[in-house]
Amino acid sequence: MSDSTERDALNRYSMHSATCGELDVARLGEQVTLCGWVGHRRDHGGLIFVDLRDRTGITQCVFDPEACTAEVFAAGERMRPEWVIAVKGTVRERPEGTVNPEMATGEIELLLSDVTVLNTAKTPPFALEDGIETDELTRLRWRYLDIRRPEVLHALRLRFEVTAALRRALEAHGFIEVETPILGRSTPEGARDFLVPSRISPGSFYALPQSPQLFKQLLMVAGLERYYQIARCFRDEDLRADRQPEFTQIDLEMSFISEEDILALMEDVLARALAVAGVELTLPLPRISYAEALERFGNDRPDVRFGLELQDVSALVAGSGFKVFSQVVADGGVVKAINARGGGRLSRGEIDRIADVATSHGAGGMAWIAFSDSGEAKSPIIKFLGEDVLQALKAALGVEPGDLICFGAGDFATVAAALSAVRLYLADLLKLPRAGHSFLWVVDFPMFSFDQQEQRYTANHHPFTRIKDEDLDKIESDPLACGSYSYDLVMDGYEVGGGTLRIHSEELQLRVLRQLGFSDEEARQQFGFLLEALSFGAPPHGGIALGLDRLIMLLGGYSSIRDVIAFPKTSSGADPLTAAPAAVGARQLKEVGLRLV
Ligand code: ASP
Repeated sequence: MSDSTERDALNRYSMHSATCGELDVARLGEQVTLCGWVGHRRDHGGLIFVDLRDRTGITQCVFDPEACTAEVFAAGERMRPEWVIAVKGTVRERPEGTVNPEMATGEIELLLSDVTVLNTAKTPPFALEDGIETDELTRLRWRYLDIRRPEVLHALRLRFEVTAALRRALEAHGFIEVETPILGRSTPEGARDFLVPSRISPGSFYALPQSPQLFKQLLMVAGLERYYQIARCFRDEDLRADRQPEFTQIDLEMSFISEEDILALMEDVLARALAVAGVELTLPLPRISYAEALERFGNDRPDVRFGLELQDVSALVAGSGFKVFSQVVADGGVVKAINARGGGRLSRGEIDRIADVATSHGAGGMAWIAFSDSGEAKSPIIKFLGEDVLQALKAALGVEPGDLICFGAGDFATVAAALSAVRLYLADLLKLPRAGHSFLWVVDFPMFSFDQQEQRYTANHHPFTRIKDEDLDKIESDPLACGSYSYDLVMDGYEVGGGTLRIHSEELQLRVLRQLGFSDEEARQQFGFLLEALSFGAPPHGGIALGLDRLIMLLGGYSSIRDVIAFPKTSSGADPLTAAPAAVGARQLKEVGLRLV
């Protein structure tokens, strides 16, 4: 919506004839009515100034005893912060020297002839202005006041604008929005379900959807061909700093498409949506395979805005006298290294802290070699490595004076996890610039992983993912070698979306479920409706879901998804405003047939 359409809309069917953000010198002499909240009030020798605020901006209003009745002026004297008022007045130029070029309305003020107090207000618990340092819990406790602050409102607006643009783009591509149920049945999709006890069928439970996955597939069987939904998803996981028990996905599904079609269509949709946030995408987006992402960055959501790539130096150190390295390679593990440019100038204590990062991510320790500004190598391991290996490492890693090599040694997964964490830590420590945004697709995920703890195969994305045609004969014989049609969208080192082509044959779906440890009976019990639907003419289909909260967080440069959610929960899953979750009375429990233990 352009500013002028928005303000015209707000002024229609309203008590006000103008908004607090729209008046300027082009409107001098005009008589207008504004409604809003009282911000700062200043008494200036006989004149009273009140900043009036609504969602569009702030207008300076003047009570002048020469221009209004004594009664109106007295009302001005009583005005307190956050009172809700309607004012009538004339737009006039601000006197010389009082113009505020920072404000859209900074050249004018409203000389009041009348005021109506629509409501009074208690003194707010914190100042309702930008840049305050009030703790988050207090702000969430009075979130409706917090949202009055322009910077908070701005986040909600950004979210709205991008969502609206996504809708327009999807509709332009023939997508139909369909709502799917919130009360569903529990299906093992990966995370823990939120359960809702049924009063009418005591002992039975609905589950809140972890995503609309199965319903959107059913819509494809139903012939919808292109579906989307701004879908709320619920996962009862242990909360981490940046997780919410409920979150929003832009969820979509398409029939009769290839992986190529989905990626290309999504790129167009994203380009259109991000343009409203001022981000220009260069298409096509880069693609990198899952294997390559792990190899070069140690994880499957690489931030590629800075270097510090991982390099495999196993061959160089295999025969060295440093037993930790040579033994790892002999045992089939890997030795990888990051050359941290300029890291050679770090103190010993700082290097120890890098090693702490590696060990806290699973490594047994972290070997390192620091190079002084004159190029001299310092490290407890040099005497074991020997001069030849040192020279070979320097050449392979392009080492220059002042650099620091950090090593990871062990099995591939452990080294990847440790060095990926070290890489991100180094980027912060060395203050590597991360300007702008980076988008890329990670593709070609393996279908299965093996869960060592549970001693069983799990689906990397979800059990409905289609296996690469050429790998279909390996499902039983070599599951870990099965590739899948799957893709994640990565932005600035975060996964902001993911999807797959789906299995559209009952027989193949059963084979995959068997591999995941379901007996046919269990599979029919839990997914019978899907399996049945697949047997009634399911078209080839696939889709993707974008994590809206995270996308907006990154676009707006916020540090938490809570900043872009109107009423977020704290990191312990509580809502300080309504005090949810809360105990319920004995009667309510009895009605749903529950007793607390
Ligand atoms: N339902 C999937 C998810 O939530 C996304 C998809 O495969 O479309 O991760």
